[in-house]
Amino acid sequence: MGLDFAETMVLTLADFLIVATGGQPRTDLMRVFKPEFLDEKGSVKVKSTLQIQTPDNGSLDHFFVAGDANNADPTKQAAWADLHGPVIAANIVSMINGQRPAKHYSSGTLLGGFAIGPKGGASQIYRGLTFGEWFMTWIKSKMSYTDEFQEFWKR
Ligand SMILES: Cc1cc2nc3c(=O)[nH]c(=O)nc-3n(C[C@H](O)[C@H](O)[C@H](O)COP(=O)(O)OP(=O)(O)OC[C@H]3O[C@@H](n4cnc5c(N)ncnc54)[C@H](O)[C@@H]3O)c2cc1C
Repeated sequence: MGLDFAETMVLTLADFLIVATGGQPRTDLMRVFKPEFLDEKGSVKVKSTLQIQTPDNGSLDHFFVAGDANNADPTKQAAWADLHGPVIAANIVSMINGQRPAKHYSSGTLLGGFAIGPKGGASQIYRGLTFGEWFMTWIKSKMSYTDEFQEFWKR
């Protein structure tokens, strides 16, 4: 017995629609070999040094995980992923020098900014503070970071 969509369908009007189905980290390889090192969302569990967190607390210390694939942050943001690199680099240098990794990562505040067209948007940036169109136009909507990319590309 199938669903009759004509009977169950509800028409809803909206000014805009944000598709927010959520992302999935591509950690398939780890899932095949060591699924116990993933959390319930599929992110690789890491220590504050961004080394893989293992039950024995050390057997995979020579593996670091950066960016969306790790579970260091409650939200996945390029802003956070960028901060993982320097922590990992410093810790690798420490290990090369025979020292224990000493650089620790702590996640930033929850934030989100949504561009809606070139002159609109909404954001929540710090402790629930919200900003609307002018702020989002200034930081994101107008150029969506394409100007930053162009600058980077020209270097
Ligand atoms: C629509 C959208 C809007 C966003 N807006 C913002 C924003 O405004 N501000 C913000 O801070 N963050 C934003 N984010 C989040 C941000 O994009 C991510 O947090 C960031 O890109 C994570 O960087 P990463 O290097 O970990 O992963 P990615 O940037 O996803 O890079 C991973 C790379 O690995 C490659 N890859 C995957 N599997 C394999 C494989 N098996 N072999 C080889 N290569 C592989 C992929 O192709 C990809 O290039 C947004 C994300 C989305 C989807």
